[in-house]
Amino acid sequence: MTDLKLFNSLTRKLETFQPIHPGEARVYSCGPTVYNYPHIGNMRAYVFADVLGRTLSFKGYDLTHVINITDVGHLTDDGDAGEDKLEKMAAQKAQSIWDIAKHYTEAFWADVKALNIRQPARWTVATDYIDQMIDFAKAIAPNHCYELDSGLYFDVSTVADYGRLARAHTDGGEGRIETVEGKRNAADFAIWRKTPPGETRQMEWDSPWGRGAPGWHLECSVMSGAVLGFPFDIHTGGIDHREIHHPNEIAQNQARCCTNGLDVAANSGANIWMHNNFLVERSGKMSKSSGEFLRLQLLIDKGFHPLAYRMMCLQAHYRSELEFSWEGLEAALTRLKRMVMAVEKLDRKLKLAEDTGPDLSGLDTLISNDLSTPEVLALLEDWLKRPFHSDFQKLQAIHAADQLLGLNLLELGRSDLRIRPKSVTIAEAEIEAELARRKEARAAKDFATSDAIRDELASKGVEVMDGDPLGWEWKL
Ligand code: AMP
Ligand code: ZN
Repeated sequence: MTDLKLFNSLTRKLETFQPIHPGEARVYSCGPTVYNYPHIGNMRAYVFADVLGRTLSFKGYDLTHVINITDVGHLTDDGDAGEDKLEKMAAQKAQSIWDIAKHYTEAFWADVKALNIRQPARWTVATDYIDQMIDFAKAIAPNHCYELDSGLYFDVSTVADYGRLARAHTDGGEGRIETVEGKRNAADFAIWRKTPPGETRQMEWDSPWGRGAPGWHLECSVMSGAVLGFPFDIHTGGIDHREIHHPNEIAQNQARCCTNGLDVAANSGANIWMHNNFLVERSGKMSKSSGEFLRLQLLIDKGFHPLAYRMMCLQAHYRSELEFSWEGLEAALTRLKRMVMAVEKLDRKLKLAEDTGPDLSGLDTLISNDLSTPEVLALLEDWLKRPFHSDFQKLQAIHAADQLLGLNLLELGRSDLRIRPKSVTIAEAEIEAELARRKEARAAKDFATSDAIRDELASKGVEVMDGDPLGWEWKL
């Protein structure tokens, strides 16, 4: 097998993956803050982490993947300003935080399943780790933190090379909208936030710094270290995390590991830090504050199979920005349909005596080049067109590629991909009956009736696709 090369945001270079524990790969991915539904951009981050995990498994590593669920501590601004996202939503909805967290965690898991993202070894929930967070904070407090009325803060000048991951300088405090009075450096961040006097929060705990809640950055340092041990192999997140959240995690890890060294591999908590680029959308529908924001269920309601969105993600390299459009999604769905149809034609039963395993070296080379999924898709399409020694051998090759891509090509059929948009109520049997009637009319050259049937179906949300090159005949 080829060496696995991954782009490390710490060094901004492609590096050969070298596991810390022989034969193993330990990966931590920053998970969602469960105060609202995830938008499809958030889900791009987990499709990426999933492809990384699948690749590590394909390369033979024993994978331990951890994704956290942030149910406390994430403020509306990634710096230290604003309100706790969960407290705010709970107040808006007049519900308990625990109910809010449960509801949106389950919604997130539904999207994970729909996108065929493999289950990680562990989902760690922030509120299960409060004691460890307090212990971690106690350990770093004497040399790295100071207390203000509002909480315990991390002094970024106490670790070497703060912010190297972001390639940022600490003086500007970029991205920090409001500054907290008394902070020594603009980039200093909360480790523990005290509940203001006279207030109570739904989620608060006692600590040596008063009753309050942990800072968001602390959670990931604690959970990743607790489950995977420092240093572990790979830490992932969206590219926004490269700017504030991950530099802060690294600073805490440096402090905790008492290396106080540069944030190079061994001292930063993880050897490799990887970041997916953003999914962008021009009209602002990605924002959760806009009414009908882009969540996976909206795509499904409009009649798209969720794996069409996965296909859309895979078509772009994870480090490239990806622009969302409905036309682009339609094209991704068509591509998926073509693949599914090509696979459907293959004979699953016939295994020839002289069948050998397919040559997967091309696949290995492409995915080992920093997860080049666009090229893996092209290779797969080439395989689907090309004759193999037998259908059986071809199916084995497709299976191997799909282990990496997760498009479910061997299970999906045409009917699965034809999803009923929320707006359509007509029954499938009625469509088939009408189409049969139309066929007869056309055979009898009664084009007036044939057109009338087509228009009638169109008014019920069914598009008849005469001469569709894919041979799907109709779509909802
Ligand atoms: P959050 O729930 O806000 O912590 O975000 C969950 C994950 O989604 C994080 O890894 C973010 O970096 C990532 N993310 C947020 N917005 C986008 C986007 N538009 N495209 C891709 N990833 C995103
Ligand atoms: Zn995190």
